[in-house]
Amino acid sequence: MKLLDGKVAIVTGASRGIGTGIAKVFAEQGANVAFTYSSSEAPAMALEKELNELGVKAKAYKSNAASFEAAEKLVADVLADFGSIDVLVNNAGITKDNLLMRMSEADFDSVIEINLKSVFNMTKAVQRTMLKQRKGSIINMSSVVGVKGNAGQTNYAASKAGMIGFTKSVALELGSRNIRCNAIAPGFIETEMTEKLDEKTVQGWRDGIPLKRGGSPEDIANACLFFASDLSAYVTGQVLNVDGGMLT
Ligand code: NAP
Repeated sequence: MKLLDGKVAIVTGASRGIGTGIAKVFAEQGANVAFTYSSSEAPAMALEKELNELGVKAKAYKSNAASFEAAEKLVADVLADFGSIDVLVNNAGITKDNLLMRMSEADFDSVIEINLKSVFNMTKAVQRTMLKQRKGSIINMSSVVGVKGNAGQTNYAASKAGMIGFTKSVALELGSRNIRCNAIAPGFIETEMTEKLDEKTVQGWRDGIPLKRGGSPEDIANACLFFASDLSAYVTGQVLNVDGGMLT
């Protein structure tokens, strides 16, 4: 018996990085996985094939997380293809870093829309199905930056802190219907998002991590597995830092 046998999970932004790691761990644990991408079609198709070869049902959907209409269509398509939705992981995200002095309005707005409004779009879209089922687990990918702030990332930090407030509010609203909502705050995870940083900045991050290494997508995926499975049946409204001790 695997931890997610027979469950249906949606993972947004799984064509790369942490999302790919989550989709793989979920499929290895028996979940059927619907996942989205924005532009990376080839990696998304390769992942779809890889997951199906594990013996579960998996499908990639091109869907813009920032669009309310696209989220509604995605959920309708997933329900038609998979029949139910037990787990939602709001993972899609971007950075557009700059000092506040130099940050454009467009860069502020797009980070808020893709990172934070997407969480509203997707949660609202799956809510009816989870209410009817009287069960569900929603997992929001925040960041240590949303907990402590970071110079040069006012837009990103605001979006990630917003996700934490959203998470706690959804936990309060939907707990009586057995729908749980938790957030994960990853620290420094080695993906394309962090490859953009210069070596000096990266070394600075590593030096501040008690476990003395960057995290991997699997480190985050394993925390997601806990929240997605019944192992966390009595846990809601929480933020789990998965950061090698960075915020300790
Ligand atoms: P990544 O490697 O840059 O991957 C981002 C993923 O999001 C890709 O699959 C991308 O799809 C998708 N995406 C981007 N814009 C989208 C949109 N409008 N609609 C749908 N999908 C979209 O990032 P990552 O490092 O794996 O990060 C994943 C999540 O963890 C993000 O929310 C990030 O903020 C958070 N996080 C990361 C770190 C870290 O250190 N890496 C730390 C804390 C939190 P395409 O490939 O098609 O563009």
